[in-house]
Amino acid sequence: MRVTVLGGGVIGLSAAWYAARAGYAVEVVDHGSPHGGSRVAGGMLAPITEAWPGDEDVLALGVESLQLWPEYARSLGVALSPVGTLAVAVDRADVEVLAQLCAYLERMGRSATRLTGRELRALEPGLGPVRSGLSVPGDVAVDNRALLRALRQACAADGVVFADEPGEGADVTVIAAGAWSRDLHPALRDVIRPVKGEILRLSARPGALPPPRHTIRAQVSGRPVYLVPREGGFVLGATQYEAGFDGDVTVGGVRDLLRDAEVVWPGIAEYALTEAAAGFRAGSPDNAPVVRWLEPGVLAATGHHRNGLLLAPVTARRVLALLREGGNSR
Ligand SMILES: Cc1cc2nc3c(=O)[nH]c(=O)nc-3n(C[C@H](O)[C@H](O)[C@H](O)COP(=O)(O)OP(=O)(O)OC[C@H]3O[C@@H](n4cnc5c(N)ncnc54)[C@H](O)[C@@H]3O)c2cc1C
Repeated sequence: MRVTVLGGGVIGLSAAWYAARAGYAVEVVDHGSPHGGSRVAGGMLAPITEAWPGDEDVLALGVESLQLWPEYARSLGVALSPVGTLAVAVDRADVEVLAQLCAYLERMGRSATRLTGRELRALEPGLGPVRSGLSVPGDVAVDNRALLRALRQACAADGVVFADEPGEGADVTVIAAGAWSRDLHPALRDVIRPVKGEILRLSARPGALPPPRHTIRAQVSGRPVYLVPREGGFVLGATQYEAGFDGDVTVGGVRDLLRDAEVVWPGIAEYALTEAAAGFRAGSPDNAPVVRWLEPGVLAATGHHRNGLLLAPVTARRVLALLREGGNSR
């Protein structure tokens, strides 16, 4: 059976790789947008610290996918960060937000360890004056660009063909074009929307304090900010706006990220700002992905919003299961 995958982000490539390994003839078509979520993402695999009341299905799916990640990463030869996440609060309102998250996690049977400001600074001496926080060792991270490279190589090694435009005669088309999926099928038009995010990449200059070992997530005056370690620096994210397909990095977005991050990690002033980028998450009405047949021969794998890296293996597994069910090919 011939499968064409529209979209070469982490979802399209993972689905293509799983299908190719299962014996399908697979082609991946990508338009090479610099704003694809997979390219700009922070790289957190963080179902627990992303959890929020109302998103129980996303939490359960994220936990399921995280369990698949060690094997998925091993098969791709991609390293996972060895240390987990610290979620920290700066002011009294931020403490309250974290307390709500903690109470919710306990209700959902997921625990996180509460830490005082002093305990947090013992783990990460570069932290600023944080009041309290949570330790979530299981919420790990991956270098998203290393992941994309590894996926492309693995796809090529398993016979996936890459193209700029779809060829003729596919039995199944998989729509995995992130936020752009909305333009590729009428059933997605009112379901998928672009959710813009701006993100920065910083590297330590000589003499700068070393970057954090943990992923640090914070609430600063009610605004979320996170630092995800990378070799010699970190990724600093991310803003979130409903701004359509506006790919500009705004001065206001960069200012907010740097100002909030400096409260949490005062040493950033000594870092080099190496990149500022904007990308699009594929939002859906309930924040859960859309992975299902849209019509015979057309399958959707999109709508992963803030968790597409986390949900890549569970999505690829689901796409393969739908292909194998068959009966829906053209
Ligand atoms: C700032 C930011 C930070 C994020 N941080 C995290 C994080 O820490 N952890 C996490 O799990 N998730 C994170 N996300 C979300 C995650 O990046 C996305 O959910 C994920 O990348 C979605 O992958 P995708 O393959 O569906 O889409 P994308 O990565 O957006 O890829 C879609 C691809 O489709 C291509 N395309 C567009 N139109 C067409 C067409 N007509 N035909 C063919 N191809 C087309 C584009 O060129 C693009 O390459 C973040 C997102 C943003 C924006």
